[in-house]
Amino acid sequence: MSRVSVSKSATRTVARNAPLERHTQRFRELRRDLAQIEYFCKGTVLKRMMKCGKAQCACASDATRRHGPYFELTYKADGKTVNVKLSPAAAPLYTTAAQQYRKLKTLLNRLDKLSKTILHHQAKLADSQRQD
Ligand SMILES: [Zn+2]
Repeated sequence: MSRVSVSKSATRTVARNAPLERHTQRFRELRRDLAQIEYFCKGTVLKRMMKCGKAQCACASDATRRHGPYFELTYKADGKTVNVKLSPAAAPLYTTAAQQYRKLKTLLNRLDKLSKTILHHQAKLADSQRQD
């Protein structure tokens, strides 16, 4: 009697676990991607050509003769926009870091959604096991 009941509940658990297994697998993949993240930096790197302000300079009348490029990292902190000047050599480093930051955010969002789905499944499973 008790044996029959155990095997029944085991079969049902396996069937219910199928989507959970898939989600768990996906979670592990995303966690692996997360471990691949390199140095990251919130913000955007801007490339700017500037006017020097001298009326006689060619840049005053000709947009193609502006000075630069000058690079800036811009990001928001406490609701304020922060601009940090970057040297031409530093700009590619920060551009890459900003891409990593966006990737990190995307991964975190996916992991968050997936975690909630998995937790929902696990909670249902825990509830059903309690009722048995
Ligand atoms: Zn100028």
